[in-house]
Amino acid sequence: MWQDLDFHLIHFLYYPFNYPYVWLPVVFWLGAIAGSFLNVCISRMPKGRSILWPKSHCHNCYQPIRGKDNIPIVSFLTLLGRCRRCGLRFSAGYFGVELFMATAFAGLWLYDVAWNVRAIGSSGERLYMQARGSDLACVWLYHAVLLFVLTGAALMDWADGPVPQRFLAPALATGIVGATLGPWPWPGPLPPRYVNPADLTWRDLPQGMQLLPPWRPLPSWLPGESPELGLVTSLLGAVVALAALYAANGLFQLTIRSMPVSLSAIHCGTAIGIYFGWQATVIHLLFAGVLLGLFFPLRGRIGRRPGRRLPVVASLCFAAGLVFLAWPWILWVEATFRRYL
Ligand SMILES: [Zn+2]
Repeated sequence: MWQDLDFHLIHFLYYPFNYPYVWLPVVFWLGAIAGSFLNVCISRMPKGRSILWPKSHCHNCYQPIRGKDNIPIVSFLTLLGRCRRCGLRFSAGYFGVELFMATAFAGLWLYDVAWNVRAIGSSGERLYMQARGSDLACVWLYHAVLLFVLTGAALMDWADGPVPQRFLAPALATGIVGATLGPWPWPGPLPPRYVNPADLTWRDLPQGMQLLPPWRPLPSWLPGESPELGLVTSLLGAVVALAALYAANGLFQLTIRSMPVSLSAIHCGTAIGIYFGWQATVIHLLFAGVLLGLFFPLRGRIGRRPGRRLPVVASLCFAAGLVFLAWPWILWVEATFRRYL
């Protein structure tokens, strides 16, 4: 190890992201900062207030919180969650969101980059790894934006507040742009003379940033690794999510005479559809429906007051996390079904 130190140092300078564990504390810290910013968004945006002005201040003594008292996670621990001037106790929820985002960003880094659980970059059947660390870091960034927005949306929804469209808009924009820049199977290689027969399982396909190609075999006007393919993949996911959520609203209107799927929920589902592509979106909507069924009776009991609205946004966000984490096992289930059917 130590005699190779100069090799590793030079290699690190050229390919810094090929040493993923070096970046783990950095990513954890980025998550804490993101959580701190998310706290500002959650407490202000549903009330229509600016996230830039005024600066963070104590709600009791109205003194601005100074820079050294506004360090994510650390300040809460050193001041034991109190205001330095008047000693008012801040909600532990702020600390919880910072710690959650830090852990989630670091966990996503392990999932996407360090452990590469989805085997992104392998040309199917985990034959060989080709994705570079810097490619995987881009994949992480793409997912981190969605993670940030969905966590915020779920928390705003759970607090019974509206989820502003302008909070969700970055996920929609990043989703479309990222899909166009990193079309399936990027960063995986498209194997030479890739015949793409229909009897391959999802697991046999190259695993890219985008989960699956929209259909197989791909037509000649929509080849793999083309920006058009990335765009079509994401738009089809969006269309499926939009159609299903509007249909759900119609169904609710007929049965319980209310439309619980808000415009925010539709935007949220669309963002997830853009990221997931249509196949994973179908699975996601099924998961979200089951979760909504579980949440609904639970919510009246654990909340201080009975829920006025169905937590549709929270269910969509939570289900998206589940599908994303369970994706390797979903591939396995699909392969098993295809073998026996
Ligand atoms: Zn104070």
